[in-house]
Amino acid sequence: MTTEITAATLREWALPEPSFDDDKEGRGHVLIVGGSREMPGAVMLAATAALRAGAGKLTMATAASVAPLVAAAIPEARVIGLAETNGGGFTVEAARRLGELFGKPGKPSAVLVGPGMQDDAATAELVHALLPRLAGARVILDAAAMGAVRAQGEPHLLEEPKDMEHFRFKEAVLITPHAGELAHLTRRDKQQICDAPLDAAQEAARRWNAIVALKGATTVIATPDGQQWQHQGGNVGLAISGSGDTLAGIIAGLAARGATLEQAAAWGIALHASAGEQLSIRYGVLGYLAREISAEIPALLRTLA
Ligand code: AMP
Ligand code: MG
Repeated sequence: MTTEITAATLREWALPEPSFDDDKEGRGHVLIVGGSREMPGAVMLAATAALRAGAGKLTMATAASVAPLVAAAIPEARVIGLAETNGGGFTVEAARRLGELFGKPGKPSAVLVGPGMQDDAATAELVHALLPRLAGARVILDAAAMGAVRAQGEPHLLEEPKDMEHFRFKEAVLITPHAGELAHLTRRDKQQICDAPLDAAQEAARRWNAIVALKGATTVIATPDGQQWQHQGGNVGLAISGSGDTLAGIIAGLAARGATLEQAAAWGIALHASAGEQLSIRYGVLGYLAREISAEIPALLRTLA
C-alpha cells in the first residue's frame, strides 16, 4: 500500500519539537560533506537549508581550496578543509579526519554526503571508509555519494556490474536519486524507472538496505521493509540547479533534530515542494532560484506542523 503524503499525514507524523530550554546541541548537529573547486555552491545551499529546517549546529567539510570561501559565505558553520584528489574528490584520509568528530560529545546526529562532489571513484571509496565511523548518526547520501552502491570500496570495481548485486548498507541510509541517477546506479533505462517509479524505488530499497527517495514531479519513498509513500506537488520551477542540494539539506536538518530518515524525507519533500509553490506565486513558475527555497522553510514549518 502506498500512502499519499498530505498535510494531514504530516501532522500525524509530527516532527520532534525542542523544549524551551534546549541548547543548540539539543536541536541537532548536522555534518555536510561535499563541494569541490568547480561546485562549491552545492554545500552552501544544503547548509543553509539544514539551518532553515531548524538544526542547531552545523559543520561543513569541503575542498580545502574553497573552504575559506565557503566559511565566509556561511558564517554559522565550522568549515573543515579536506585534501583533494586530482579529479576534484577528497582523499580517503578525509574519513579518518571526519571520524574524529564522532568520538567527542556534541557529535553530529545527521550526516549528509554528496552535494557538489566530483570524482566518482574517490567518492565511493570515501563513503565506504566513512560509514563505519559515523557512530549511529542518520546518514543521507545524495549525488555522487550514492555511487557507493556500485562498489565495495574498491574504485576499480566501479565498472563491474556484478558487484552491485551484492552491495548492502549495514545500517539503512537514505539515498535521494532522481530517475536518471537511479537508472545509472541500477544500469537500467531511465524510461523503465519513470514508467514504474514505486517498483524501482522499492527494489532498490530492498536490494541495498536503503530508504530510497526517488525524486521527480511525483516523489516516492520506499523502505527496505516494504513501506511506501508518495508526494505530488511543487512545480517545474523546482527542476533547477541546486534544487536537490537544497532538498538534501532540509532533510539533513530535520534528521539532525531527531526525525527518522523516512519522516525527515517525507517532511523535507513536502516543505521543498511547498516552497516552490510559494516562490512561483512571487516570481512565476520559472525564474526563482534554488537559493531562495530555504528562506520559505521556517514559515512553512509553522503552517504544516
Ligand atoms: P535534483 O535533480 O537533484 O536537483 O533535484 C530536483 C528537485 O526538484 C527534486 O526534489 C525534484 O522532486 C524536484 N522537481 C524536479 N522536477 C520537478 C517537477 N516537474 N515538479 C515538481 N518538482 C520537481
Ligand atoms: Mg541532485
